[in-house]
Amino acid sequence: MSVTVGLALLVIAVVLIAGNTVERRRRLQRLAERDYNWYRSEHPELITEDGVKCSNCGSSRIHVRHLMQRTFLRKHFCSQCGTTLYYSHE
Ligand SMILES: [Zn+2]
Repeated sequence: MSVTVGLALLVIAVVLIAGNTVERRRRLQRLAERDYNWYRSEHPELITEDGVKCSNCGSSRIHVRHLMQRTFLRKHFCSQCGTTLYYSHE
C-alpha cells in the first residue's frame, strides 16, 4: 500500500517537474524569438542612425540587463518608460 502511494507521489513529482521544464523552455523560446531582427521588422521606423528607439515613448535611451537565472538572455529596455523592446543572447 505505502509503496503504491510512494510510486504515485513519485510519478506526480516527475510530471510536475517535467511540466515546469517544458513550460520554462517554451517561455524562454518565446522571449528569444523577440530578438533584434524581430524588433526591426516590427518597427523599422524606430531603427535609426542614432540607434534603436523605444516603441512606446520614442526615447533612444535603451539599456541592457541580464535576465540571469540561467536563461542566458539579455533584455533591451527603455530606461525612460521601462518598456522591454527585445531580447538577445548573452
Ligand atoms: Zn520608452
